Formats: sequence, structure tokens, C-alpha cells
Amino acid sequence: MDDTVWRQSSLPVSRGALGTRRVDQLALPASLASVHSAFDLMKQIYPQVDVNCIVSPAISHWQVKSISQPPILTLRSTQKAWDIPIVDQHYQTLLDASSQAERARLVAVSAKDSGAWLNALPISVLGNLLDDNSFRISVGLLLGARLRDPHVCRCKKLVDELGRHGLSCQLSAGRHSRHPALNDSIHRALISCKVPNVLEPNGILRDDQKRPDGLTLIPWQQGKALVLDVTCVDTVKKTYLRGSAGQLGYAAHKAEELKRHKYRDPDGRYLFCPVAFETFGPFGNEASSLIQ
Ligand SMILES: [Zn+2]
Repeated sequence: MDDTVWRQSSLPVSRGALGTRRVDQLALPASLASVHSAFDLMKQIYPQVDVNCIVSPAISHWQVKSISQPPILTLRSTQKAWDIPIVDQHYQTLLDASSQAERARLVAVSAKDSGAWLNALPISVLGNLLDDNSFRISVGLLLGARLRDPHVCRCKKLVDELGRHGLSCQLSAGRHSRHPALNDSIHRALISCKVPNVLEPNGILRDDQKRPDGLTLIPWQQGKALVLDVTCVDTVKKTYLRGSAGQLGYAAHKAEELKRHKYRDPDGRYLFCPVAFETFGPFGNEASSLIQ
């Protein structure tokens, strides 16, 4: 890990990192919250002491670090209220110093659900236990760390030291297996919500070229069954890079738009839901609302 990667890793999981916080970032918020929560007791013990005088140097120091105004009085005894502005400032500094590709990654990994896998219990019977190498690669991709030496892929394209090419390479084996894995997760989630459904139904649309990924066997809304098509697109693929750097979930939203266009059902017999995810975590709007 170089310095930038190390600095990012100390952000919370909700900001696209590992949540291994740095003491020099946490000390001030912890101290300020602690002092403020003891104010009443301090006033009882030493009524003659002006407690505000005691904390004002620390608050000034905090304002310099966070470039924000102190939290409102009622929130000053919570550490989070002091910590979040410092985290935001730290995150913004990383964003400002990033190239377009790194910016796209940072925006994507800070999405609400992108770090959910880091909070999942690593239990093998639930399928949540990653082997050491998968964990190393996932963390490396998350933090933009060097994963291996540059080399040429079987598809003749150059794989750089960050190893992201495999996320979108046409010859990548993992790319093919993640699609059925996603389908299966959604299939099982629907069954656990008592919505029977089938994977890859045949012949439901007139155009045989279109094979959706799932169909509910009972009506979903308006007396119509739901047809699903699942996809996972690469956040940092060249075609999406500029959009991903400017807008959270850009690649997933684009993929959902394309799917919706592809599955226009002229007879209106079915409801269609495109379900798009990105390699770096964000969900498409329709995927989000389906899952919620
Ligand atoms: Zn390749």
C-alpha cells in the first residue's frame, strides 16, 4: 500500500474504505464529545470554572481540520457529530487529488451499499466466506492498490498493476460466473419473500433473441408477472469512465436504460424490471427499488 491507499483505508466503510480508523483522526472527535458530555458534572464539581474556555482551543483546532462550523449544542456530546465533518474533509481531499479513473472508483465505493460486503459475517455455510486471495483482490480493487505486475491479457490488451481489466475483459472467467451468481441471489431472495419465480424462462417474448433472466409465476403488480433481466457492468470501463467520475451509479443507470429499451413489450403483457449492478458496488435505480 502506498500513502494514498493507506490514507483511504482509514476512512469508514460507509466512505468506501476498511474502517480501520487512524488515531490522529479519531482523537479530537472522541475528546470533544467526551468533554461535552461531562460538562454538567464539571459544573457541579467546579462551579467557578468556565468550561467553554477549556474546550475552545480544541474546537478551533477541529475547525481548521474539518473546515466546518461546530455541531449544534444538543449534538456536541456525540462523537459522530464531530467525526463526520473530518471524514468528509478527508474524503474530499482524496477526491480532489484523484485522476478521473480514481475519482470514478472513489465515488462508486462510497455508495450506500458498496461496502455492505465488508460488514457481512464471514460464514461459509451462508456463502459469505471469501478465500484469502479473493479478499486480497477485493480490498485491492476497493482501495485502488497495486495488485500485480503489468502484463498482457489473453485478449491482447494490457493489464496494468491495478488489475481492473479483468472486470470487463470479454475472456474473463469470473465475468461469466458472476452473472448466474447474481441471478441466483435474486431468485432465492424472491422465493424467501414468497414470490415463486423461474430462472431464464423460454418463449415469453416473441423475439427469441431476448432471453430474460427471471419471471415471477404470480402477478407482481396490476395483474401482470414481472420479467427480470440482471446485469453487472464495470464502473471503470472506458466507455463509462467519464460518467462514473461525475455521477454515482452512472454505469448502472445507463445499463438499465439500455435493458429497458431492449425489452420493450409491445403487448404490455408483462412488467419489466432491469436489475443493474456495478463492479465497484453501486446499484441501478430500478435494482435498488426492487431489492428494497
Ligand atoms: Zn482481456
